[in-house]
Amino acid sequence: MPPRASACPGLVRIVAARDGGICRIRLPGGALSAAQARAIAAASMRHASGVIELTNRANLQLRGVRDGHEAALSAALIRARLGPATAACSTASFAASSTASSASLPACPATAAGCADDVRNVMISPIAGRDPSALIDTAPLCADLLALLQGDARCAALSPKFALLVDGGERLARLDHPHDVWLAASAGEDGVRFVFGLAGCPGPSANVDEPRNANGTGALAAVAPSRVLALVRALLHTFVDLAAADATRMRDLLATHSADALLQHAQRYVDFPLARDATLGHWQRQNPADASLRLGAHAQRDGGLWHVGGQPPLGRLDAATLRRLAALAQRHGNGILHATPWQSVLLPDIPAQAVPAVLAELSALGLACDPAQPIAHVIACAGSSGCAKGLADTKADALRLAARLPDGVDVHLSGCMRSCAAAHCAPYTLLAVAPGRYDLHRRDGRPGFGQCVAPQLTIDEAAAFLARLARSNPDV
Ligand code: SF4
Repeated sequence: MPPRASACPGLVRIVAARDGGICRIRLPGGALSAAQARAIAAASMRHASGVIELTNRANLQLRGVRDGHEAALSAALIRARLGPATAACSTASFAASSTASSASLPACPATAAGCADDVRNVMISPIAGRDPSALIDTAPLCADLLALLQGDARCAALSPKFALLVDGGERLARLDHPHDVWLAASAGEDGVRFVFGLAGCPGPSANVDEPRNANGTGALAAVAPSRVLALVRALLHTFVDLAAADATRMRDLLATHSADALLQHAQRYVDFPLARDATLGHWQRQNPADASLRLGAHAQRDGGLWHVGGQPPLGRLDAATLRRLAALAQRHGNGILHATPWQSVLLPDIPAQAVPAVLAELSALGLACDPAQPIAHVIACAGSSGCAKGLADTKADALRLAARLPDGVDVHLSGCMRSCAAAHCAPYTLLAVAPGRYDLHRRDGRPGFGQCVAPQLTIDEAAAFLARLARSNPDV
């Protein structure tokens, strides 16, 4: 099966936008060394606009890539070991495949290296292995799955959007993004097992009646941790075997094949029984997740060490800030930065005595470290300043809204229906309809953004409307 075409940015597929090319850097498990962060900062200044975005898949992307700089940018990032770990992935092969002009929509690079980059989509908690509530450390499993995705030639046929989630039971976990294959640790009498499902998300409920799980399977069965790799390989091969050329996601395959048929097909690839476990039909994750733990300082499971996190406004950094974050991780932590799927950054392994200094430095850099700060409750896509499809300048409007937002209200501003900034449905979405004008939608359990509760609002009107809602219903 040949690689599928895609409009998704990648390390070598620089996709055109209004403000220049976009280069996406996939980070294994969201982790980035200080040296890599400095290389990205330098490359963003030399070959792009210097704007660095954190994405909702815990990756980074550089905006404003200059025409003619694409190959040099990709090569610089590969030299910093930010590419896929395959034998085919030399700097030369990447540079050779990076021929796409940002003036046109490029197809998937037709090299093994380019395709291996595309499929590196495995989400884990940013504090995998460090969360006191976790049932298992998912970081080694994530590394094994990434090796599978990069090393198995058949995986090159997967779409760049095809993504896996491995949940170790951490309290800091993003569980509301639908994934093509999800696995969630669950404690049983015989130890930890991974419950899994297709085309949905594990919590707080894997109920297929929830809109985000629409067309998904819910929890199908459970396997021992030692069998996860073989299971995922079998499911990926099943997808590649059966998916039509235009089927890019597992939900597309489920539209033409039952979950039981897929498990039956996957059975040929494993040497253990694979069938639906009816007792898991109403399986629920046992402990609730808490996204606020991404901000501020929290004790890790290993005595005396803390993780400290902050939210850059609207998920954007500049090169100087990224350099200072790298220095901070080296001075006080383990030299590794973690991107989170909430578009924030987290520094692990900080000794208790260094926590105040790290918090002070993050605040000085303009990062929100307190979940009560309104800017931590607003997300926005690139909007009309960066994207030709944007009907309003969502970034600028989001900053104005944050200044007037009532406490604890989460709002997503989207320049069009595509919802690039949110893979989940936010409690409130302002959907642009014209410059400075938005329809306000409230999440109501239906697919999409939910019900439109007020049309054609200005940002001031939206802020006032949300404040009224918050006053009349404190649980808003
Ligand atoms: S949601 Fe629409 S306007 Fe916003 S970045 Fe995506 S395509 Fe562009």
